[in-house]
Amino acid sequence: MAAPSMGGVSLPRGNGQTVRLPRGASLTDLAEKIGAQPAALVTALFHLGEMVTATQSVNDETLQLLGAEIDWDIQVVSPEDEDRELLETFDLTFGDEGDEEDWEARPPVVTVMGHVDHGKTKLLDALRNTNVVAREAGGITQHIGAYQIVTELEDNERPITFIDTPGHESFTAMRARGAKVTDIVVLVVAADDGVMPQTVEALNHAQAAEVPIVVAVNKIDKEGANPAKIRQQLTEYGLVAEEYGGDTMFVDVSATQRLGLDELLTAILLTADASLDLRANTQQDPQGVVIEGKLDKGRGPVATVLVQRGTLRQGDSIVAGDAYGRVRSLLDEHGNKLKEALPARPVQVVGLTSVPRAGDTFLVVEEDRVARQIADRRQARIRNAQNASMRKRISLEDLDAALKENRQLNLIIKGDNSGTVEALEEALMKIEVSDDISLRVIHRGVGGITKSDIDLALADDVIVLGFNVRAEGQATELANREGVDVRYYSVIYQAIEEIEAALKGMLKPEYEEVALGSAEVREVFRVPRIGNVAGSIVRSGTITRNSKARLVRDGVVVADNLTVESLRRFKDDVTEVREGYECGIGLGSFNDIKVEDVIETFEMREKPRA
Ligand code: GDP
Repeated sequence: MAAPSMGGVSLPRGNGQTVRLPRGASLTDLAEKIGAQPAALVTALFHLGEMVTATQSVNDETLQLLGAEIDWDIQVVSPEDEDRELLETFDLTFGDEGDEEDWEARPPVVTVMGHVDHGKTKLLDALRNTNVVAREAGGITQHIGAYQIVTELEDNERPITFIDTPGHESFTAMRARGAKVTDIVVLVVAADDGVMPQTVEALNHAQAAEVPIVVAVNKIDKEGANPAKIRQQLTEYGLVAEEYGGDTMFVDVSATQRLGLDELLTAILLTADASLDLRANTQQDPQGVVIEGKLDKGRGPVATVLVQRGTLRQGDSIVAGDAYGRVRSLLDEHGNKLKEALPARPVQVVGLTSVPRAGDTFLVVEEDRVARQIADRRQARIRNAQNASMRKRISLEDLDAALKENRQLNLIIKGDNSGTVEALEEALMKIEVSDDISLRVIHRGVGGITKSDIDLALADDVIVLGFNVRAEGQATELANREGVDVRYYSVIYQAIEEIEAALKGMLKPEYEEVALGSAEVREVFRVPRIGNVAGSIVRSGTITRNSKARLVRDGVVVADNLTVESLRRFKDDVTEVREGYECGIGLGSFNDIKVEDVIETFEMREKPRA
């Protein structure tokens, strides 16, 4: 047996004892738990060929390796277990409460899946318009990630909830994060095309999740449509139509001609009634899942959530993933304010402090304080886990080689809503340059570029992309000081072009943006015939008349392409104002200026070619 001392520092041997650590723990965390010196653990790992510092997050494998060496059984606690334990410390559980007998029936939640171009989007649009309940005036249907319609079955009004992001990616992404949202899958198959690869994939996902399937045979209006063939093809995958003695309902529809829609809705309800007993406790503390999140320019973070149990009300203290807040308003898909949302109701929640991710769960808690504490702990955990997964395991032998061969461009993507961030990431990942250069997105998120993003970028060669968002104060300083490449975009293809060019090693933009100054708005003055003037203090650099400007609010670009059209100190027109001085800035016809906005000025300078 190895001596209980390595590198001259003694290590307490565990004799097989168990120690539990959260994912992403550091050697210091481990040292604390087993009563060792952090430095001794660093040395021990070094002898095992791993170089890490005492406070750095260590991945699971390395922890196990070290554990085996010092005879401790290290159990890395999964994020799910950890979260359960976190909630337990506040006497909370995510799940149903009470006696099932007292629960009330709730509507089914449906996800539409199928091969690309088979008509998922068209069908969701068509179904949206089948609603039998008239909406109040002013209700233009908006995309909020899910919607509910009411249909009639045997003279009863029956609501159905549809998840409005078609495709199995979102379904799988949610399920991967432990969120079981979908009760029924509508599998769309085009009658003129037949079963295709993604049809099979969708089917596999639904079956793996043990979710009943209703088949919508679409495009029956088209020439060459052969609905019988679809039934035939799908029997091979275990989906046998009722008319052939099976138990799957097939409905022939045309999304464009609006045929068979009522039959489809009926099939959904009958399938739900036959194979599922959908009920929920409306009396317990409300809980559910985040369907979509975005940063709204006017309203701040907005999340569409699906209530799964309980009744969500305005004023509730809520924690959703690592975001928290008080529900300021609840809005349905028509933009109508709701007083409350019952199970299976999708609603937009306004009032969160940040944007949660799709698939995050939400809970309502007694006090704001509890919501904040849970959110804080989750944030810390996410950071740790990210740091751990980021760090490459490089042994001493291959360190040199790894550095020489590092032909990888790492990216961090931040944007103003989760949709654009995903779209940008997806588009970027499609760029193909050559086999030996790869692109990796190591972190993505909604909101301004923060100091922790830049910290993350420092660990590797990372380019930070801000899509319609800016770096927050400290982050800019840190990025400048450390030379982190931060790029801002408001057009997706421009980002793609530049990254592609960077990958090709021929990035030579002719002009580059040079920051001139920034000013913080302290007061807004209404000047007759001129409009709003921003009473500001110059925070850095110089504000120059006629320079280009943009307006940033809470880290998000509200308006680009502005010009400093007027610049005054007290009553005098001036050409420039330096740091620390107050001034009045007029942005021409642009009037949407608020206190605490930041006006950034810049100019485009020709960049010397490399
Ligand atoms: P998705 O990729 O599955 O979301 O498919 P889309 O809903 O975007 O539809 C793909 C194409 O098929 C579009 O051009 C639609 O207009 C067309 N389409 C969808 N449903 C029908 C239908 O019932 N009949 C016909 N003729 N065309 C349809």
